Amino acid sequence: SKVKSVADLVGVATFGFRGEALPAIASVSRFTLTTSEGGAATELSVTGGRLDRVADGARQRGTTVAVRGIFFNTPARRKFLRSVSSETRAANEVVTTLALAHPEVGFELHVDGACRLVVPPGQTLEDRLAAVWGSTLAGTLVPVSHAAGAFRVTGFAQRPGDAQPTGRRTQLFVNGRPFKDPFLVRAAEAGYRSAIHPGDRPSLLLNIEVAPEDVDVNVHPAKLEVRFRDRIGVERVVEEAVRHSLGVLAAAVSVGDWRPAAMAQRGDHLAGPVVDGHDLFTPDAPPLDGEASVQPAPGFSVPLLQVFDTYIVYEAPEGVVIVDQHSAHERVLYELVMAQLTGADPPAQRLLLPLTLELTDEELDAVEAHAEELGRVGFEAEPFGGRAVAVHAVPSPHPKFDAEACFRETVADLARGRFGGWANRLERFAATYACRAAVKAGQRLDQREMRELLLRLFATDLPPHDVHGRSTIVQLPREELERRFGRR
Ligand SMILES: [Zn+2]
Repeated sequence: SKVKSVADLVGVATFGFRGEALPAIASVSRFTLTTSEGGAATELSVTGGRLDRVADGARQRGTTVAVRGIFFNTPARRKFLRSVSSETRAANEVVTTLALAHPEVGFELHVDGACRLVVPPGQTLEDRLAAVWGSTLAGTLVPVSHAAGAFRVTGFAQRPGDAQPTGRRTQLFVNGRPFKDPFLVRAAEAGYRSAIHPGDRPSLLLNIEVAPEDVDVNVHPAKLEVRFRDRIGVERVVEEAVRHSLGVLAAAVSVGDWRPAAMAQRGDHLAGPVVDGHDLFTPDAPPLDGEASVQPAPGFSVPLLQVFDTYIVYEAPEGVVIVDQHSAHERVLYELVMAQLTGADPPAQRLLLPLTLELTDEELDAVEAHAEELGRVGFEAEPFGGRAVAVHAVPSPHPKFDAEACFRETVADLARGRFGGWANRLERFAATYACRAAVKAGQRLDQREMRELLLRLFATDLPPHDVHGRSTIVQLPREELERRFGRR
């Protein structure tokens, strides 16, 4: 190696160090550096910035930097170190972030002789995530891959059903470089809207690829923050990317310890193809969109089985799919109601004899406060003296619909603030109504009804998730079956 003096260290930048940092570190520590280009090795020792020794060393091609006794010669600086545990935590964060950024590089972290992290070189990002975040958390993630405009977003997002209020992990990269940005994390969370409890915080790892000239990485001294030229654009694409990833079957909770096949096989997600998940649901169905989706599609012809009058079961290419009929219908109605609340007129049915219902004061207030929304979904109600209301028209979302029960339950839920955590008033109303208007568990459905429900479900934005933060679809993957029966 050519390193003979401290000043030469600046040139070591090519080995992946920030040139100016090495001399700075060497000036406040007992520092040794061993480096070799494959032939003879050079070892130099620096103590508090003073070059002690340059000698021949022994090393294969590469460089080893050892830093001991940091700040030993600058007690004033040392006082600024925080507690051992918080410095350890900071070091741990630096190493894990680097480990996630570079699955191709091996890392080891030892603390007081105890090994905290060992990851071998040459890992896939999935395996690296499992090693760094733990396989339990990694097993709850689904791949993200989406490109729009100037941006491409890849990585992993947690299944909504597995998100918890605490203990989340988030990691953002732009062109492979780690950065922090709470607003982009919030944009990613917006992709979960209506699929998780408002308090749940999903784990995320996202890499944003963008042309270098569209992002400024030099706005922060420690390079922790970056500035995107198209701020609104990047937030929108991140939200879309997360939402897309949650709409596919792989985002449905699975029975057993199983990761989607696409995830296990596809080596490099950062370069993987964009997956369109809708065909995963339906064996040979034509693309589902808009009006076509509510017609019985000839392609989706697999036999459907209703079990316990509550779940619909069918065979898909990747496994057995189990759908909760209430959750599924709730998701369908939620998206329909959101459309009605913001536009199209509802299909209402005028009653020959109005329903007269006695309500509580709180419920009367709720009817008054939500008169507009109730009207939008098809309920026409007016005060009828005292605590009574007269309902003149009702919606008819399905043949088994009980208009009076739905009205009473929806109004009671609104009065009690049951979806209280939902920030948006229309979304809160839509979720409340959807839950109360949907077919219930325990109602017998015939083949045609089940098929229509599934087709409508697949046409929604987020088929696998209901509006309570629970699953609509549970899958028993074929791989899991084969594993259980010893076929693989
Ligand atoms: Zn419900």
